[in-house]
Amino acid sequence: MAQEWNIRHRGHECSICGCKFKDKQKCVSLLREVDRSYERMDCCVGCWDALERDWEPFSLWDGVYCAPKPVELKKEPVRKDTAEILLRKLIDLEDPAMLNVVYVLAVMLERGKQLIERDTKPHESGGILRIYEDKRSGDTFVVLDPKLRLDKLAIVQQQVVALLSGTQTLGEEKREEVSVDSDQEPVGSEEASGDSEQKAEDSVSLEVES
Ligand SMILES: [Zn+2]
Repeated sequence: MAQEWNIRHRGHECSICGCKFKDKQKCVSLLREVDRSYERMDCCVGCWDALERDWEPFSLWDGVYCAPKPVELKKEPVRKDTAEILLRKLIDLEDPAMLNVVYVLAVMLERGKQLIERDTKPHESGGILRIYEDKRSGDTFVVLDPKLRLDKLAIVQQQVVALLSGTQTLGEEKREEVSVDSDQEPVGSEEASGDSEQKAEDSVSLEVES
């Protein structure tokens, strides 16, 4: 036997009547020597019993047909490059309504060690311009840190997660949730004093997985 170790896959229909097996259907499986090789047959029990033949199977066993499981869609962990592609898209859009999302995403990528913060500049809005550099490509992103309040940050985080997981697509954002807080606390107010340099990233709990 030249090809005796070749794998013979189980058929999905009866070798005799051609009917498709149903899941959990009992069947007869056998190997038959044909031309110095093995032919595999899978048959309905009835078809096999009724088959008139002048040969004996090399091997025969009773089995149960199991329908192949549909491929389950695994929940993909958020990948770094997905987050970076989204960041580039958002930056290209130059949509003021997405400023907060851009910022939170950039912070996530910084925490994932994909972006490096190279510089910071005060911005006329009272926020901070943060200059990030892409570790691999060397591209630079200038992102406005809008000094999000913590309660606002949670909303933006949810939005970033929705965008990354595909449950929300660009263009259908709830704009009122992401619009830049125009009545922002002025620098020097009680909330901003003391820890005015503290970045919101300390409370960003999202991790970007590799
Ligand atoms: Zn059959």
